[in-house]
Amino acid sequence: MTSNVGQNYPYTSESEAARAAKIAELVAARETLAATIAAEATALDENDRWWVWKCPTAGCPGLLHAAGYAAERHAVYVVCDGTCAKTFLR
Ligand SMILES: [Zn+2]
Repeated sequence: MTSNVGQNYPYTSESEAARAAKIAELVAARETLAATIAAEATALDENDRWWVWKCPTAGCPGLLHAAGYAAERHAVYVVCDGTCAKTFLR
């Protein structure tokens, strides 16, 4: 499991429609992502807006988008849309 827990403050927020579209795009682009999310996270509940975080990976310009709740709970499971393509807990 590549995730780690960070305490960073959110960078911005996005609408549910924007979040869902971005995650769908990432899942379509990355072969193993759907299975990874299914294994490590549970479905999100309903929210109008979701936080977005800056990716903490050095040199990665990506943003982290909510993809589910971590199976370990108390954290949002997020996916980087940048070059590192990692997942994190927030
Ligand atoms: Zn990244």
